Amino acid sequence: MRDQMRKLIVGNWKMNGTSRDVSEIIAIAELSGMHAAVDAALCLPATLIDRASQAAGGFAIGGQDCHMMEAGAHTGCLSAEMLLDAGAVLTIIGHSERRAAQHEQDSDIRAKAEAAQVAGLQVIVCVGETLDERESKKALNVVLGQLHQSLPETAASQWLSVAYEPVWAIGTGRVADTNDVAEMHGAMRAALVERFGEDGRKIRILYGGSMNGDNAAQLLAVPNVDGGLIGGASLTAAKFRPILSAAAALSK
Ligand code: PEP
Repeated sequence: MRDQMRKLIVGNWKMNGTSRDVSEIIAIAELSGMHAAVDAALCLPATLIDRASQAAGGFAIGGQDCHMMEAGAHTGCLSAEMLLDAGAVLTIIGHSERRAAQHEQDSDIRAKAEAAQVAGLQVIVCVGETLDERESKKALNVVLGQLHQSLPETAASQWLSVAYEPVWAIGTGRVADTNDVAEMHGAMRAALVERFGEDGRKIRILYGGSMNGDNAAQLLAVPNVDGGLIGGASLTAAKFRPILSAAAALSK
């Protein structure tokens, strides 16, 4: 992955994929090679990172979490160094599914993001409001609070992106209204610039939540939407292709 403000399209495979799916990963990597104007990556289950990074020839493979400690008595966990060692170049941190199911707090996410950056991984920190918070008009406050608390001080000094993912839009087929996306991404950009100065303009802000081939062009054209974090529509090359094409068309 190269310049900060090229569109960045990242697939999140969540708990999907085994060795049977390596051919699909290779197909997605080849597809990415045909869209040179776009940065792309796949964040895979940890069990696939080694195999995928060897098979996908330079295509960016990432993890979906890492521990904040370098090593120690943390059964079942993986350090940032372990992800790197397996061939990952990036990782998602603070996905709302982990915030909810693993009770991850902003302070955990900040520590994990910092550990990942120190180890040399690129990081995507996720933020997003619940439906209840949106309906009670708290979305802006919640998301800006998460952004402030979850980003380490080093955020702008090393490669880091932020993903705005309204929780109610993830895996539901329900997409955020483009006016709401513009408002949220604009507010996030302003907060990043206030905190990090001009470097805050270089942090890519991705949208995530039921992005697919039908809505990607519209969402990616919204000001301050610098890419997408995609779950379901990243599982096959056929579904990922139109999203990469939409990003490439906007990069011309
Ligand atoms: C995600 O998992 O980050 C996500 C956005 O999922 P989906 O695209 O399936 O809504």
